[in-house]
Amino acid sequence: MKKLLLIAIGLLLVGCQSTRNIGDNRLKNFEPGISHAEKKEINNWISSEYTNSYIKSKNFNNRKPTVLLLHHTDSNEDVAAIKIFKEGKVSSHYLISRTGEVFQFVDEKNRAFHAGDSYWNGFEDINSSSIGIELSNDMKTEYTEEQIQSLILLSKDIIKRYGIRQDMVLGHLDVAPVRKIDPYINFPWERLAVEGIGLMCGQEYKDVNIPKGFNWKSALAEIGYNPNYIEKAVYSFRIKYFNKIPSDKYVEPTLDEKKYMFCLLEKFRESRK
Ligand SMILES: [Zn+2]
Repeated sequence: MKKLLLIAIGLLLVGCQSTRNIGDNRLKNFEPGISHAEKKEINNWISSEYTNSYIKSKNFNNRKPTVLLLHHTDSNEDVAAIKIFKEGKVSSHYLISRTGEVFQFVDEKNRAFHAGDSYWNGFEDINSSSIGIELSNDMKTEYTEEQIQSLILLSKDIIKRYGIRQDMVLGHLDVAPVRKIDPYINFPWERLAVEGIGLMCGQEYKDVNIPKGFNWKSALAEIGYNPNYIEKAVYSFRIKYFNKIPSDKYVEPTLDEKKYMFCLLEKFRESRK
């Protein structure tokens, strides 16, 4: 009995010791497979060595996401994607399978690893301000009707709960045009925009009269694309708004594309008012 008591006290002490270092203890809640550099970064956020006392205030709530970021997984294999988001080095808040099932991997109040090196409208590190939704799709096949219906329901719910503006519903290709092309040409942005998820111009762009002196590069930068990679942004723009596979070589925007850019800029301005 005495021996048991000693073991119990011993365990209690071990428990106390492990909670003494707040940083290390909390790190256990992050999914495995993150790199050493990322662990170090997260550790730095959690506590400062210059803190003397942590007196919890009752006045706080969860940080509010401002971006809804949409992706494709580059594969139709749902099980493989689930395995990657559970155990691999990347994650997303949600995955929508080919059958329209919605899987969640990360709490919405936490930062998932889906955007990587990213930029939008003056902000970097989109992971910190976004909720990520992945859809199983290999770029060659169409999205299933079940997937899109689930995406519409889930997106509307997220947008409503956080008050995410339409101009902040983006694709990975928008925030990382240098590295990413997802979601690709078969993604139904038009259909989503009709539901209030994201901004598109539809066919109305054809009637646009571009004002004199219109600078399409400035327009793309004002819409939100990284001004340092405007030519790459044109590549993403063609995929997203014209469902077109762009040529590898940079091609100057056509008159139609410039009309669309102007129309889009007006919509983004309106949404940000
Ligand atoms: Zn992506």
